[in-house]
Amino acid sequence: MKAEIIAVGSELLTPYRMDTNSLFLTAQLNLLGIRLMRKSVVADDLELIRSAFGEALERVELVVSSGGLGPTADDLTREAVADLLGRKLIRDEAILHTIEKRFERFGRKMAEVNVRQAMVPEGATVLPNPRGTAPGLWLEAGGRILVLLPGPPVELEPMFQEEVSPRLSKRAPDVRLFTRDVRIAGMSESEAEQRVAPIYTQYAGVETTILASPGEIQLHPRIWSSDAEEAEKLLDELVQRFAMALGENVFTTTGESMEEVVARSLIFNQSTVAAAESCTGGLLAERLTSLAGSSSYFRGGVVCYGNDLKTAWVDVPAELIEAKGAVSSEVALAMAEGVRQRSGATLGLSITGIAGPGGGTPAKPVGTVHIGLADQTGARERGFRYPGDRDRIRQQASQSALDMIRRYFLYGGHNKG
Ligand code: AMP
Ligand code: MG
Repeated sequence: MKAEIIAVGSELLTPYRMDTNSLFLTAQLNLLGIRLMRKSVVADDLELIRSAFGEALERVELVVSSGGLGPTADDLTREAVADLLGRKLIRDEAILHTIEKRFERFGRKMAEVNVRQAMVPEGATVLPNPRGTAPGLWLEAGGRILVLLPGPPVELEPMFQEEVSPRLSKRAPDVRLFTRDVRIAGMSESEAEQRVAPIYTQYAGVETTILASPGEIQLHPRIWSSDAEEAEKLLDELVQRFAMALGENVFTTTGESMEEVVARSLIFNQSTVAAAESCTGGLLAERLTSLAGSSSYFRGGVVCYGNDLKTAWVDVPAELIEAKGAVSSEVALAMAEGVRQRSGATLGLSITGIAGPGGGTPAKPVGTVHIGLADQTGARERGFRYPGDRDRIRQQASQSALDMIRRYFLYGGHNKG
């Protein structure tokens, strides 16, 4: 089955609001084996909405819309669709009653405009909305299905799962989308592509997409199939070959975040970590505390931005900073060791670098970052030179730092050799 999504709302055509409902809907449709062929964003305009639905219905069997079901004059989806299908809008007393009751519960009287939300095109099935006033609508016409959903994601998402998904799964064919999520750190996109392209091009039925973000590359092989066992087997084989080609740069084959992988290895190794950060300004600590239960492995962190505070807080000798510069291997090592000692954590992790756009020199250009990792046997350090702007440099630095913990445990958890 093929589908299109229409996001209705003039606010979605400004720089201030983005259509996110379609991302949720696409994932849900894919789970049901329904392929999204196109999506559009349409202003609150009767004629534009009507023609968007009309054109979509000429192309696909299923059209899902979001928005335009509110009570105000600019909410026109139900009128446009009723008009297109030549159906009358009929007042549904049950819906009206539900809306009135909802207002009563909040101690308010229903406004006259809300009556519009009780208008239902002839023959439509009403999808209840316990989280808002606008009910959704399910319509069938000429062998096509139209599903009209309210705009607020907190209403749309549960309505899709509770009301739409069960109805669609009865209609959808047994073809489903099978997918994997392989994630890589410490490698450029082109380098990863070079290693995996010769593999995935051998699998004609599998579509592999590569997503790159600062410090991370994701490989998403996807296959549409009615044979689950066959599809899983093929993906397993492909992922295994990816893993062979990419080696330890792969940090998960199951879509885990770097934070999750690092948390798991710290917990498994009964280790704790503390962070001393300069150019990332707390980003590393933020990421290390982003998961519930992080107190079992994260001891704490300091942002020692000023050189004097690198000395005062994590005992970096002032002469060392003077001699080598704040952004140097030596200072990264001292910061890692200092924060480890001060915090009593098993591991000390440090970042010092130049995020730019100013402050670079020919010897230490913008993007130069040193990351240190200390354990009870000593400290190690790695130097990086990241491309990109301030945001990207900081993101990549925090990723490399987390990745250093991951790799540390990969090699058995010691700093020697
Ligand atoms: P509506 O049903 O058109 O009254 O939409 C109500 C609210 O839902 C809007 O003000 C938006 O904040 C939100 N909304 C509408 N469409 C979308 C969309 N496609 N993605 C995310 N939020 C949306
Ligand atoms: Mg709207």
